[in-house]
Amino acid sequence: MIKIENADLLEIKNWYIAKVAEKEYFEERTAGIYFNACDKTKKNNYKTKKPNYKKNKKKFNEILVFCRSNKSDIIGATSSEMGCFAESFILHFGSKIKESDAYLLFKAYMDRNYDAVTKDIGYDLVRKLGITVCPYCNRQYIFTVDSESKKIRAQYDHFYPKSEHPYLALSFYNLIPCCSVCNQLKRIKPIGVNPYVKGFEDDCKFTVDNVGKCIFQEKEEWNIALSNNTGDYKKNIDEFAINELYKQHKDYVEEIIFKARAYNEGYYDELITAFPNIGLAESEMKRIVFGNYVKMEQLDKRPLSKLTKDILDQLEIK
Ligand SMILES: [Zn+2]
Repeated sequence: MIKIENADLLEIKNWYIAKVAEKEYFEERTAGIYFNACDKTKKNNYKTKKPNYKKNKKKFNEILVFCRSNKSDIIGATSSEMGCFAESFILHFGSKIKESDAYLLFKAYMDRNYDAVTKDIGYDLVRKLGITVCPYCNRQYIFTVDSESKKIRAQYDHFYPKSEHPYLALSFYNLIPCCSVCNQLKRIKPIGVNPYVKGFEDDCKFTVDNVGKCIFQEKEEWNIALSNNTGDYKKNIDEFAINELYKQHKDYVEEIIFKARAYNEGYYDELITAFPNIGLAESEMKRIVFGNYVKMEQLDKRPLSKLTKDILDQLEIK
């Protein structure tokens, strides 16, 4: 997992909050419009049975009022503040609220708000954040294409699942742009670490257990796995099947180890001398030789960069 970094993050968050505010979420008026529209198009909106809005309106509005009074805090809340809000919600309403019809209605209403917001600014948000590789797995590109004829963008995972915590459906730090594989794997399961807070960095490193057997040997004779599989990280590693998936990148690992043995620091110097007009520094030459970014602050730029960096660290390639 790679930490989401952006020098303009605060500015982007404020832009997002302003955009979301235009949708008038947590307002009785917009809820009324939504549920009336549902009544008028019963066939499309009641495929799964939804509770009656009018019957549950009072309790539903109590939820709205509670959320509205905390509105600006909820949308801009940090990961830990979101956790605190979830606790205060249950403290206020009691845990049974989650089984109530009013809560089901609230979920449907927040689903509708989330759909409207992502339809409107889902592309702009991920583009502003500059995220082009899935931060959860660092295995897939998640480029954005937003032209008249083609629409492609990352999916948004809710760090705190919106089915469980619908009041956080629009919270900025709860929306994690990611690849479809990670979004599907996680679904409603909780994980331990929010990539807006931290990544694996050097706490969790890929290591090869038997480097000597890596090249031209049977793939069963060696393994690649994360060295730290504990604490908060464990949930992320397990839910995104990181170790299971990275085992399937053994051919890539072999190539990195082969190159690491074939090329040494002298080789970079030779390349720099041989191509003086290219103007590449030694670290950039390393990127070209190994085919990936290997500086910690650049790991979000290309799939498998974390794997590459960790192997080179293990091999003490400076
Ligand atoms: Zn992913």
